Amino acid sequence: MTRLDPMVAIYPGSFDPVTVGHEDIARRALRFADQVVVAVAHTPTQAKRSYFSLEERLEMLEEVFADDERIECTSFDGLLVDFARSRESRFVIRGLRAVSDFEYEFQMAQMNRELWNEFETMFLVPNVDFSFLSASLVREVARLGGDISSFVSPSVLRRFQAQGLEGEGL
Ligand code: ADP
Repeated sequence: MTRLDPMVAIYPGSFDPVTVGHEDIARRALRFADQVVVAVAHTPTQAKRSYFSLEERLEMLEEVFADDERIECTSFDGLLVDFARSRESRFVIRGLRAVSDFEYEFQMAQMNRELWNEFETMFLVPNVDFSFLSASLVREVARLGGDISSFVSPSVLRRFQAQGLEGEGL
């Protein structure tokens, strides 16, 4: 890569579903990257069971980022470093909310560095308003009938409504 090549950054995750916290991180990454590839992992990390199907998660991401052509949404199978290589990128973006995220993220970053020495992990801190937000908490609040409208985009909200999770304010 020369300095003139566009800088492509991969933002991988489960996005189950995409929240305003994820959105904040992807848009922040565009302050230094020319293109951000938001990539839904086929194989969930930390053996998580997914709530929305891969197709649904990808559709929601595409709806959320439809306004910015510099953000591409896709999915990938296998190792992140292999996917990154296939996209000619050696940068991965991850979000750090709190110290609790750090240990796992640090291990992943080191492992990816072992797998590919050129690979760089870049951690971004979200707007403080989103530092408590996680996709699993959003699912939990929705399941219990709470209002999630300030945590997710209207299109994600509609998915929950379609599933009959129409809590107060939904
Ligand atoms: P994964 O299963 O890979 O952790 P997630 O979809 O849960 O995937 O998260 C993807 C990335 O986004 C992770 O780096 C996570 O720390 C980050 N992230 C999730 N929610 C937020 C948030 N509210 N603010 C900032 N970063 C976040």
